[in-house]
Amino acid sequence: MKQDMFRAAVLAVIVPWGVQANTIAVETSLRPEARPAAKGAQVSEIRVSNVGFDQWIDGFRTRAQAEGISAPVLNAAFSGVLYNTDVIARDRNQSEFTRTIWEYLDRAASNERVLTGREALRANAELLGRIEERYDVPAEIVAAIWGMESAYGTFRGTENTVEALATLSFDGRRGAFFETQLIAALRILDNGDVSARGMTGSWAGAMGHTQFIPTSYQAHAVDFDADGRRDIWSDDPTDALASTAAYLADAGWVKGQPWGVEVRLPDGFDMELTGHGVKRTPADWAALGVRNVYGEPVPDHGTASVILPGGMRGAAFMVFKNFRVLARYNAADAYVIGVGHLADRIRGGPQVQADWPRDLRALRLAELSEMQERLTAAGFDTKGVDGRIGPNSIAAIRAFQRAKGLVPDGYASTDVLDRLR
Ligand code: CA
Repeated sequence: MKQDMFRAAVLAVIVPWGVQANTIAVETSLRPEARPAAKGAQVSEIRVSNVGFDQWIDGFRTRAQAEGISAPVLNAAFSGVLYNTDVIARDRNQSEFTRTIWEYLDRAASNERVLTGREALRANAELLGRIEERYDVPAEIVAAIWGMESAYGTFRGTENTVEALATLSFDGRRGAFFETQLIAALRILDNGDVSARGMTGSWAGAMGHTQFIPTSYQAHAVDFDADGRRDIWSDDPTDALASTAAYLADAGWVKGQPWGVEVRLPDGFDMELTGHGVKRTPADWAALGVRNVYGEPVPDHGTASVILPGGMRGAAFMVFKNFRVLARYNAADAYVIGVGHLADRIRGGPQVQADWPRDLRALRLAELSEMQERLTAAGFDTKGVDGRIGPNSIAAIRAFQRAKGLVPDGYASTDVLDRLR
């Protein structure tokens, strides 16, 4: 549970997207494709004058100067910056729909993305090799994050980062988070890593080939080509890819350890042992009958959990510490499995071997909230109603399933919701 709290805390600090264990909100998944702004394309920004926004900027300037940001940097950064209603529209348009893990993986590790990834790996083999040598993070993992975050540099976002972050800070929904990001963005400009015009990214302030938010950049970005600037924005991905490896190394990447391994569980396996909260050695798991897809015990890569991201009828994965390292990028289980599986496929590994319960549909956010309300009312406390299925909700679903004599896999299915109604 401590680990789950850690992951939730990291999410709040690092990643401005939602977390769900079983499903993932559409807006949070496959982020590059969700953005229409291709490199070089015209963006349909709606930028307007706004008296309240201008007053907010005046107040912000005072706060920024108190934080040590100089007037010239502020002048350059806010030159031509207007209230961006397009950013607000995107922020408001958080999708009601979610994807199941299999729908997510179908796109995250599509054949096209695998093939493009192999090409990107070949084209940048020398660079990724040097990065792997320096940071001990596999080239395929770095390439997979590159693929997930910007389709290998194709969709890096063209919003003015200062304008996007200022608009979101002024708007107030999560204003404190975005103002912290805005201050960090100004420090990047102050440091001369990029010009104010060159600092572009997503509507939510994620920048460059691997979509760093400013505070992550400040903490982890590196000048790998040693030209004096940590440049994650230009067409040349050198610094961006090295920065991604540095980020994972800083988060504790374990050399030689997989993120996870697909496994098969024996008949009658105790579902109470699944989930991130239970950790055993691979030898302990082997003694319980857990095998890889070839029927062999999983080698000892360190302690591991067994997770069922699609419930008991879907694939099972034995996941190691590196799973949690990848979760520092985006805490959603689906994202981590997406990156890890895409990396495995780029390396030439097989598709997920188990069948998924494709007859099940993803619950909408409103249905997930309803499930949480009904569980809590029935005495299975989800500790909040937000439509996000995290550790507390999974524990409540398991308890409900146990009470009903069902297999306690903790999966938020339509069946569980129907039984609560
Ligand atoms: Ca550089």
